[in-house]
Parts: sequence; structure tokens; C-alpha cells
Amino acid sequence: MSATQMALPFQVPGASTLPDLSTYDRILVAFSGGKDSICCLLRLLELGVPKDRIELHHHLVDSMGHNLFDWPVTESYCRKFAQAFGLPIYMSWLEGGLEREMCRKDQPKAPTHFQTPNGEQISGGQGKPGTRCKFPAKTADLKTRWCSSYLKIDVLSTAIANQSRFNHARTLVVTGERAQESAARAKYQSFEPHRTDRRDSPKLRRHIDHWRPVHSYTSEQVWEMIQRWGVLAHPAYYLDWGRLSCQFCIFGSPNQWASNAAISPERTKRLHQYEQEFQHTIDNKLSIPDMADKGTAYAAIHQNPDQLRLALSNEYTAPILIDPNTWTLPAGAFGESAGPT
Ligand code: SF4
Repeated sequence: MSATQMALPFQVPGASTLPDLSTYDRILVAFSGGKDSICCLLRLLELGVPKDRIELHHHLVDSMGHNLFDWPVTESYCRKFAQAFGLPIYMSWLEGGLEREMCRKDQPKAPTHFQTPNGEQISGGQGKPGTRCKFPAKTADLKTRWCSSYLKIDVLSTAIANQSRFNHARTLVVTGERAQESAARAKYQSFEPHRTDRRDSPKLRRHIDHWRPVHSYTSEQVWEMIQRWGVLAHPAYYLDWGRLSCQFCIFGSPNQWASNAAISPERTKRLHQYEQEFQHTIDNKLSIPDMADKGTAYAAIHQNPDQLRLALSNEYTAPILIDPNTWTLPAGAFGESAGPT
């Protein structure tokens, strides 16, 4: 276990110490492009971690070159962010993304693709055939809410477990879950061995720790950090979304379904067609059109046409870093935070 040295600025059960960051060969930040993952990176930099030991890892929920669930601009925003901070970013994805897994019929789980310093690698895809034909469940249980595990957590684990550069080395995986987000997340440890850790294997000696550096942070503290650095947040926050999840997150609120129906009617329709095909709605009770009818589209989607255009484009063309004195809080900063529990 890594040495612990300094006190955290904000106290939370089980999180009274910081790992000794100087002992790691590499620090991997699971970077969604959302405010919490940005805050994780900024915290590492403020703690003095040299950039040449940090790498960002982003998981493409819809896979490479395909778009159904996610904000079209997210991949580009993440790339531009990495560029602005002079950091490497590695993309990884389950082939065919969430849509292929959701539609799987008598087929094995798709292979996982992951970028590495030496190019793209592929792993898996030879498992037993199975049938899914349903949406992920709206629950904290990652076995039935399989999108988070299949499209994100397992993808990073596959990328780590299949790169020999992580063997005989010490690696820290950093993720941005916060206790304030949900009762389930409040129970997460702020520091523990990562699920890919094999430090006791004489052959691998793969030491991987997992740290959640903003677990105790409030939303206010996260935004304060982002303002201090003058980082422009993902366009979704300027459209009133309080959290950067998939654009069509299964946990979307009625207002978000109403907003999505207004700004992305084609993808809304496609997802509802799947509800009809599967005879299974994303929500436990209501169909997508019923959810949208119950909500009111966010005013910001009409008030911020430039941000809307940006959010729905494949290319992020605004700056990432601006003068902190000119930085303003996005409309959705403290808005509805519907998202993974
Ligand atoms: S953001 Fe929502 S839909 Fe996307 S992977 Fe997470 S829980 Fe699933």
C-alpha cells in the first residue's frame, strides 16, 4: 500500500489522507470531460504531479466514429482539453458501443479497443454467445446497469491488464466520483487497490491503486477549482445540464428528455424505436415520449445557440483555457444532476 502523508483539505469518512503521489510511475485519469474529472486533473497539478507522469483515458460510449447516446462533441472536447494541458489522451471503447451491446442477439460480447503509446490494440470478443436486447437498468447495481461497467469500467480494466508497461510498475488510477452525488457513491472508498491490481503476482508485480481525489468535494468546490484555472466546461453545462453524462443517459430527467426531444429529435426517435422493438422502456414506468411530455425543455437550449451548435457538432472549436477573471459559471452548474447513481 502506498504511504500516506498529507491531510485532505476536506474531511470525509475514510479519506483523511493523501496517497504519496511521488511513488507512482504513472497516474491515469479516467477523463469523461465532465467537471469532476477536470477537477481531478487540476488537483493532481496543484499537488505538483509532473505532467510527464499523467495520462488521460477517455471511454467512447458509442465507440469510435459512431453516435447514438453521447454528446457528439465530447470526444473532441476531451482531445482539445488534453492538447491545451499538454497531456497524452488515450481513447478506448467496446466495439459497436452501447448500441451494439444493447442489441446483442446470440453473439459474444464485442472486442474492446484501446489506444496505447504504441498504437491501437484489441482484446476479447471470443466469449460465449448471449442475448441482451434491452436497455441498461436504472439502478446503482452495476450488474444490471451494465452500461457503466461494460462501456467504461471494464474497458479501462482491459486496457490496463493488456499492456505490459503496467507490469512491474506502480500506477495510480484516478476517478472523479463524489460522495455528494448519491448514497451509493458516498460509500465508495477514496483510496483502495484497483480491480486490476496484481501486486502479489510474482510474474506480473502489477501494483495499481485507485484514488478518488474529489470524493469529499462539494459541487461548489469543484467549480471553484475550475474557475481558478479558467477552464471552459463542456458545452452541455451551458445548456443547463448539471452533470455531464451521456446526452441520452438512462437516468435522464423528464426535463432532459424534453430538451433532447427538442434538440436531437432523430436520436430521440431512434431510442424510442428500440423501446418498441425490445418491448422494454428505459424508465421503469414511462416511455421516452411520456418522459418528455412530463418535462419542460431547458430555456438555455434556446438562449445559447452557439453552445447548442457546439454541443451537437463533432468538433469543439471554442477555447479550453481562458482568463479566470472573465470566467463565468455555466447556466447548469448547479442544475439538475440526473445521472449515474
Ligand atoms: S452516463 Fe448514463 S447511459 Fe451513459 S454509461 Fe453512464 S449510466 Fe449509462
